[in-house]
This record gives sequence, C-alpha cells and structure tokens, in this order.
Amino acid sequence: MTAGSDSKRSEDTPPHPTVSNLQNEIRDLSETAQQLLTDKLLLESEVSQVKKRASRLEEEIRNLRAPPMIIGHLQDLTEDGAIVRSSNGTVFLVSVNPRIDSSKLVSGCRVALNQDTLSVIEILPDSWDPLVITSEIIEKPEVSYEDIGGLTEQISEIRETVELSFTNRDDFKRFSIEPPKGVLLTGPPGTGKTMLAKAVAHSTNAVFLGLVASELAQKYIGEGGRLVREIFDLARKKAPAIVFIDELDAIGSKRLDGATSGDREVQRTLMQLLSELDGFEPLEDVKIIAATNRPELLDSALLRPGRFDRIVEIPLPDEDGRLSILRVHTKNTPLSSQIDLKEIASKTDGFSGAEIKSLVVEAGVSAISNGRKKISKSDFSKSLEKVTDGRNGDVTDNSSGLYD
Ligand code: ATP
Repeated sequence: MTAGSDSKRSEDTPPHPTVSNLQNEIRDLSETAQQLLTDKLLLESEVSQVKKRASRLEEEIRNLRAPPMIIGHLQDLTEDGAIVRSSNGTVFLVSVNPRIDSSKLVSGCRVALNQDTLSVIEILPDSWDPLVITSEIIEKPEVSYEDIGGLTEQISEIRETVELSFTNRDDFKRFSIEPPKGVLLTGPPGTGKTMLAKAVAHSTNAVFLGLVASELAQKYIGEGGRLVREIFDLARKKAPAIVFIDELDAIGSKRLDGATSGDREVQRTLMQLLSELDGFEPLEDVKIIAATNRPELLDSALLRPGRFDRIVEIPLPDEDGRLSILRVHTKNTPLSSQIDLKEIASKTDGFSGAEIKSLVVEAGVSAISNGRKKISKSDFSKSLEKVTDGRNGDVTDNSSGLYD
C-alpha cells in the first residue's frame, strides 16, 4: 500500500457525518415518513369513498336492469307446470319457482311471473289495499312547525302554497285564482322534507298519506298506475289530505326513446300521476307534496303550471340552521353548562338535519353509558368524531351528482 493510494482513499471517502447531521437526517426522514403516512390515510379514505360510491351505482344499475314482473291468474297446476293467464289474456304453461309453497297455488290465485323466464315467482294477494302499499298513513301527524329547525323561508313558502289553499278556499274563489295543487321539495337526504310535509298535515288537520315512489314503480307490470289511482281515491275519501310522494324521480324521470319495458311501466305510473294532478278539482281538499333529491332527472311535464308549479329548495342547513336544529333536538335533553351549542353548530359544516339529530342521540348514549346525568362536552366530542367518521361524505350519496 503506498502513501499515494492512502491519500486517494481519504479524498474519496466522505467525511464522517457528525451527530447533528445524523439527527437532522433522522428528523427529515421521520417527517417524510409522517407525510407518507398521512398521504396513505387520505388515499385509503378516498379509495373507501370511491368504493362505496361504485357499489351504490352498481346497485342502481341492478335495480334498473331488474325486469318488472308480469301479473297473471293461475288456471291450473299440472305435472308439467302451472297454466297461467296473463293480464293481457295470453295463456302460458310455465314453471314454478321451487321456493314457492305449491299448496298455496290454488286455481284463480294471482301470481307474478318473471318477465324473462315466465316462471311463477310470487303469489300475490287477491286485491291490493292501497293502505298496505302506502308506506305511512297518519290521521294527524304529531310533527309541527316548531319541531323544524331553520327553514323559515321554506316553511312560509309552503304555508303560502299549500296551507292557504286549504284554509282560505273562499278567498281563492272570490279572487278567481286557482289554488296550487302541490309543491315539489328538492334537496339532499335528511334535510327535513318529510317532516315539512307532516307539519303541513298537522297544522291543517289533514290526513298524511306517505308513499315512496320507487316502491310503486318497476315492480309489477300494469300495477303502478292502478296503485297511484287507488291512493288518490283514498286521499279524496279521507280529505282533507296531504299525499306525500318521496323519491318522485323514481316515477317522474324524463321519458326516453327506446325505453325498456321496465321504463315503459314507470312511464305508465307517471302518466297516471299526471292525470291525477290534472283531474283535480281546483279546490279539492287534496294537496300533493313531492320530494326528490334529483330534480334534474324530472320530466318537464311534471313541472308545467297546474302541476308542481312551485318548487321549494330545501338545502343543507347553514350555521344558524344547524344551531336551531340542535336546539330542537336538545330541547328536552339535560346538557352540561359547559356545552356551547353555537360551537357545535360551527363544527358541523355540511351536516344534514338527520345527522345533527344522530349527533345528539350518540352524545346522549355516551352520557348514559358513562353513568352521567347530563351530556358533557366530551360526550359531544366523541359523538362528533363518530358521526363524522360514519358519514364519509354520505350526505351527498343519494343525490349522486347534483348535490356533490
Ligand atoms: P330523505 O330525502 O332521505 O327522505 P328528508 O329530507 O325527507 O330525507 P326527513 O325524513 O324529514 O328528511 O328528516 C329525517 C330526520 O332528520 C327527521 O326525523 C328529523 O329528526 C331530522 N331533521 C332533518 N331536518 C331537520 C330540521 N330542519 N329540523 C329538525 N330536525 C330535522
């Protein structure tokens, strides 16, 4: 080894890092690691949101593709299968889904056939009572305007539209003005649309008939229209009545060319609804309140004057609205004096009324499980964390797009 080569190595070898250099490097690396960890968490939460959204869209596609069923009457049951006369008069020899209890398949009973395979897949009751189909019928709902936080302008608009035409029918006559037949409420889920409809029924002593449009549509060929007619007949009998149609877009979407039979069935249901709206005597004591969180999908025929000519938007509550909703839901709840509802309202940006309600419920559950007599600040912090984790952007989910 020569002295020359020794001196070369000392030139090539980097100087020994000092302890402080190493400490700096460790700090930089741990900062990078921390950053990567945060990025990973963010990406994971994004992936989970995208997955949720994808599975909801898939579900929607499945629902759209699910063929509606054909209704028929069983004529006979033979060894080769069931002889069924469909509602359009054609007689088929069809198989019976093995899941069905064949002892209940008696001659003359109403059955539903799968549209593709024509096999009997359900035994139907002989006639349908609209009361059974209607998801809710309440003689006088308990919800009143005082139970609704915020939405002051919307409440007065709805009162003006629906309530006035119930209470001041003579004035409308005197002024020769046709009172509105109903209103359409639009806005994200959980913002109080159903509550509003119930509150109108409460304050006008009207019967509340609530139905979910998606349950009417697409299930049984030829039945959606009949059910709409029967529900309105029932409302006329029970008048004064409020017919509340939730998820109107399920039957009120734009009519498309080249529609499938499922779409055509939905259209028939819509046509029946339009004819009910048009057929109303102007002063008849039945008002319709419909709700949708996808107004952009609605057929323009529904929005023509004389049908849903008033559209009231029900937005997510702003900070004042959230405070009012918190006050409504904590009205009878013991709260520690340290709790500042204004502070909670400021921390719940983007929450719907329904989420604010579950925030209070969660905080109450936490207080009870900890044996406290009052809800404490920490109960609210925990519940805020829980509801925030749970929502993961869900407030916009059902509205897919419009309220994103
Ligand atoms: P969806 O579109 O999902 O049918 P919605 O808009 O009809 O929702 P509601 O069913 O009226 O919402 O609200 C759900 C629950 O959320 C109510 O029972 C109520 O407890 C609470 N809530 C929503 N909005 C309000 C509000 N403005 N004030 C008080 N409570 C509210």
